Amino acid sequence: MKKALLVIDYTYDFVAQDGALTCGQPGIDLEAYIVDLTKDFLTKEDLVIMPVDLHEENDPYHPETKLFPPHNIKGTAGRSPYGALHTLYEENKDKIIWMDKTRFSAFAGTDLELQLRARGITELHLVGVCTDICILHTAVDAYNRGFSIVIHEKGVASFDPAGHDWALRHFEKTLGAKVIQ
Ligand code: ZN
Repeated sequence: MKKALLVIDYTYDFVAQDGALTCGQPGIDLEAYIVDLTKDFLTKEDLVIMPVDLHEENDPYHPETKLFPPHNIKGTAGRSPYGALHTLYEENKDKIIWMDKTRFSAFAGTDLELQLRARGITELHLVGVCTDICILHTAVDAYNRGFSIVIHEKGVASFDPAGHDWALRHFEKTLGAKVIQ
């Protein structure tokens, strides 16, 4: 089965202790797992996509402006991949697809589905943050489009432990995802 890894929003603003909208230590703790998994996909020549939030500062038309402090602003270092993932990305830019997104779901307003269909990919592996926001919304859209979903429990985190646990159950019980321990 052809598969792709989606490394979602694993950026400085969402992960670093002083990131603009950070999920903090639970996010930092994912670094080694996400880097190893990304290397594994690259080695096997499976597709790696990095969907990353993109915002304009104080955008009056964006619904998140009222919900969250400014984050992942265009042209800022806050949008860089966090930690060792930054280096790995820089070294493999020719193989990894960087995908700007402006909503929680990596499918919303992007050509993600076209890129996947063009390659005959049917199975999506999801890692990144936050489990109950961008991972969840991407998984719901993947389900609605008929993709098989694999969630790596050691590769997802949230600032909200209750939301994290709820989302893991939802992936498995409602979206039929395989949750890998
Ligand atoms: Zn955002």
